[in-house]
Amino acid sequence: MKLGAIEAGGTKFVCAVSDDNINVEDREQFPTTTPEETMAQVFTYFEEHPVDAIGIGSFGPVSLNEDADNFGYITNTPKLAWKNYDFLGAMKAHFDIPFYFTTDVNVAAYGEYKAGAGRGKKNILYWTVGTGVGASYIQKGKFLQGYSHPEMGHILLRPDERDHGFEGVCPYHGNCFEGLAAGPAIEKRFGKKGYEIDPSDPFWEIEANYIAQACVNATLILRPDIIIFGGGVMKQTQLFPQIQAEFVKQLADYVDFPEITGYIKHVALGDDAGITGALMLAKKVVNEK
Ligand code: ADP
Ligand code: ZN
Repeated sequence: MKLGAIEAGGTKFVCAVSDDNINVEDREQFPTTTPEETMAQVFTYFEEHPVDAIGIGSFGPVSLNEDADNFGYITNTPKLAWKNYDFLGAMKAHFDIPFYFTTDVNVAAYGEYKAGAGRGKKNILYWTVGTGVGASYIQKGKFLQGYSHPEMGHILLRPDERDHGFEGVCPYHGNCFEGLAAGPAIEKRFGKKGYEIDPSDPFWEIEANYIAQACVNATLILRPDIIIFGGGVMKQTQLFPQIQAEFVKQLADYVDFPEITGYIKHVALGDDAGITGALMLAKKVVNEK
């Protein structure tokens, strides 16, 4: 059996093929331009590398409401060429195989759940803090989802008084979690990229405060077994002890949680999480047939 994966990001698409043990046999990437151009490359790729099922993780927002007419569409994206694009429908029109379609964040979370930092845990919360903030909650193997997928990156937080009234950069909410803590918010404060800021800079305490608040909220709402962080900003690994200490302080012993250094953790698969998760979801869909 051959499995396929598509990690459709806002800047690049990655396509990959594996055997049924998720050993990646081939992988290729191309820039995200227009659906006409980029999807033509996807179709060619899987014509040249036939597979039995494909797991797709797409940038979004995407429609995941199975009862809606636009299930499998990219919906209200600022990337206008992709707005209301029927991603899943286009794949189905080209290949008569089963698909698993979900968000880019969900596939990465699934990879960490099955083969990364969340391995062996039942309920995981995964956050990515990069160009934006995304989240995925997996409860006993299933993605948490209601009317559509959660958007926990945009939860509202208390401003840190050391942050000099920073207004945030989210076009919708200003100082939501993403507006305060994602890469572009850091860049807005400093006029340079996050990786150019010294790990000992006092700013990281402020960043850790926001991330800890998000962990407190998520702990109170979801009670996960582990909270896993990935994305470019989290490459600042000095943040982890800062977040852990701040989390313990803010939660103030209200509820219990697993041992803190094993509770708030960095990803284990790094950049491979998305493709790994998409391949595993392709395998799941074949096994369920
Ligand atoms: P994306 O979210 O676009 O998929 P990333 O997760 O790599 O991609 O996030 C990119 C963002 O993370 C950019 O804003 C970048 O400046 C920031 N970033 C990347 N590396 C670091 C780092 N080592 N420290 C702080 N910020 C970083
Ligand atoms: Zn927002």
